[in-house]
Amino acid sequence: MLPLADARRHVLDRMPRPEPVAVPVSEAIGLVLAEAVTAAEPVPPFANTAMDGYAVRAADTAGAPVELRILETIAAGHPGTLAVGPGEASRIFTGAPMPEGADAVVMVERTSLVDDDHVRVEVEVPPGNHVRPAGDDLDAGAVVFEQGAVLTAAHLGVLCSLGAEAVRAHRRLTVGVVSTGDELVEGGGPLAPGQIRDSNRRTLLALAAQAGCDVVDLGIARDTDEAITDAIGRGVEACDAVLTSGGVSMGDIDLVKVVLDRMGDMRWMQIDIKPAKPFAFGLVPRSDGTAVPVFGFPGNPVSSMVSFELLGRPALRAGMGHRDLDRPLVRAVADEDLRRRPDGKTHFARVVAGFGDDGRVHVRSAGGQGSHQLGAMAASNALAVLADGDGVAAGGDVEVLLVEAVRSPAGLPIAP
Ligand code: AMP
Ligand code: MG
Repeated sequence: MLPLADARRHVLDRMPRPEPVAVPVSEAIGLVLAEAVTAAEPVPPFANTAMDGYAVRAADTAGAPVELRILETIAAGHPGTLAVGPGEASRIFTGAPMPEGADAVVMVERTSLVDDDHVRVEVEVPPGNHVRPAGDDLDAGAVVFEQGAVLTAAHLGVLCSLGAEAVRAHRRLTVGVVSTGDELVEGGGPLAPGQIRDSNRRTLLALAAQAGCDVVDLGIARDTDEAITDAIGRGVEACDAVLTSGGVSMGDIDLVKVVLDRMGDMRWMQIDIKPAKPFAFGLVPRSDGTAVPVFGFPGNPVSSMVSFELLGRPALRAGMGHRDLDRPLVRAVADEDLRRRPDGKTHFARVVAGFGDDGRVHVRSAGGQGSHQLGAMAASNALAVLADGDGVAAGGDVEVLLVEAVRSPAGLPIAP
């Protein structure tokens, strides 16, 4: 059996890494920056008020209460036209530019109107009170994001606030997914004897999409040379990577092996993990002279998902410029026995992980651990890594890969 680390290295070493491209900010969510971003202008672009109130000269509020003459009203998007002189103030609303002459804002709650033209300021305020200076968020010329940053919603907001319309980033890979097998049918019609419904294709399409890829459904390929050649061939021409499931096991009579060995340079592996021992990876040449990675995942539904987690997702992320390839690995407490038998493999058990009152992550089995039992996979949010041996006893420490967010018994500490 091949160590998982060797299988991963084999895949990551061969995974193509397309050149970065210019990507519109509107399409850049989740992408990795290929170069640093520098602020071309300050944010905010001008000094403005953080509060509704009156723009004043701070010195005028000495010895408050004081009465000031109102010059004008300044709203966001509508700069004032008059400079604030001694004994004067302008009504101002949040986000509006500070008028010339004023250096502080008194919030409206600390004032009262004397008449249409005069306001009483009840408090003394220091210069800069409630004023957001130009560049308070981002200074012009400053490096805002480093190369390699993963663009989140907040990053996109920052780029927009800087007026950036496009960034140099690693592009999204397009991933095609094909299921193979004579037993597979799609949808909800009646099942003929021996038929099962194809679940892997939907699962792998969803996993690839969640990994940040664009996806192409290549359909179900029957176990015939023509069908498999056609589906994989279409995928290779149209996609940056192709994911297949089924037909990679040792004893398989499927033609997937025959076809893929003819199409490209494949390696058929038996990895020291359970589930997901069989796995294939290789590069298949395309008509334009490039080569497209093809991942052969096992047919069993849980195996194909675990195989994607450990080998597919990291490779696709590497191809999209990510440095952090894996799910978070944390040390957790086993709340029940997580038993297994020694077999030379590392087991990835489907578990439910949640925060305990002690602030630590606690796990328990998510149910049946068979590689066909997708129900337990759906119930789980983590994979417990059980090294070769007898497993972990209740109360023991166990490492878990957090595939989804960890649940917490307590919500936000806020009153309902
Ligand atoms: P294979 O790897 O082709 O030998 O398939 C192993 C097991 O996974 C068999 O029980 C198949 O019926 C099942 N299987 C293969 N492909 C799929 C699929 N797309 N959806 C659900 N089960 C599948
Ligand atoms: Mg099959």
